[in-house]
Amino acid sequence: MDDRGVIVDLDGTVYRGNTPIPGAAETIATLRERDVSIIFLTNNPVLSPESLSERLTAMGVAAAPEEVISAGAVTARYLAENHPDQPVLVVGSSGLCEQLTDAGLALTDDPVAASVVVTSYNPEFGYEDLTAGLQALDDAALFLGTDPDRVYPDDDGQPIPGSGAITNAVAGVANREPDLVLGKPAFETVETVLDSLEHPPSTYLVVGDSPETDIAFGQRAGMDTALVRSGLTETPESTAFQPDHVVDSLADVVSIL
Ligand SMILES: [Mg+2]
Repeated sequence: MDDRGVIVDLDGTVYRGNTPIPGAAETIATLRERDVSIIFLTNNPVLSPESLSERLTAMGVAAAPEEVISAGAVTARYLAENHPDQPVLVVGSSGLCEQLTDAGLALTDDPVAASVVVTSYNPEFGYEDLTAGLQALDDAALFLGTDPDRVYPDDDGQPIPGSGAITNAVAGVANREPDLVLGKPAFETVETVLDSLEHPPSTYLVVGDSPETDIAFGQRAGMDTALVRSGLTETPESTAFQPDHVVDSLADVVSIL
């Protein structure tokens, strides 16, 4: 058994939209042949780890559900552990609602009844959702975002709005900042990942396309980091989160290990 591991981002690193990034499937296969431990860590709040594992497998990237940690799963776990009996109003996707319900949480559409407001990616987000969020935040105890991703790349690498855009919209109209935003690089996510490692954190390489989420996560977790250029076409040049390596894509990671 190799005593190394990789933590791999999904959007912009393994695929863009429904298109796998060239060489990604082969690279994951090579890492498996070398017995490198693999965790897929994504700020996707819509699909459960089971669904993400199916999606990856359909793209030719073998991935077990136990190897996938998602913003939706971290959010469900956080709420189930810390706010198990509080009615949750979700301004987000039906996929996220399902994950929260599966974790035993009680959802509500009634802004007055809600004590937790969760904001998240939803391509059908509209005026009624904004209204529900605004009214619920009037006296909700907790305002929680599933992940900070303001934008993420579509199939062509062009930016499209993510959870952060919706959290910002609700925060703007309610004039209230979120109490907590999960996903990468939140400490709650660092903790969840550290709990699941086979090897010491310092033997892991975090690979992702976002300095603010992937590289920041790796630094907080005490891991090496590699920024890939296969995600958003415009990668910000100046950032506080400088990676240890910069490579074109996941295919270049084998040479770093
Ligand atoms: Mg990404």
